[in-house]
Amino acid sequence: MLPEYKESTFEEQDLHCPNCQWKGKGYDAVVIDFFGVVGNKEVHCPNCDETIGIILKDEHESPGESTDDVNIQAD
Ligand SMILES: [Zn+2]
Repeated sequence: MLPEYKESTFEEQDLHCPNCQWKGKGYDAVVIDFFGVVGNKEVHCPNCDETIGIILKDEHESPGESTDDVNIQAD
């Protein structure tokens, strides 16, 4: 089972890769976002690309919702 992190605090999270012993912070890691496919993001080790964690999206955010610049122009 992979460790799970909150999106809001992930960047300051201490991370450790059990595969290559890499250590770093969340902002050093490689985050794979699957957009609408699944709700969560995968955290990959920047050194060996091992999947080392999961980022849980904050519940109160609506996925895919954008605030502005959605002007549909029929031409
Ligand atoms: Zn690694």
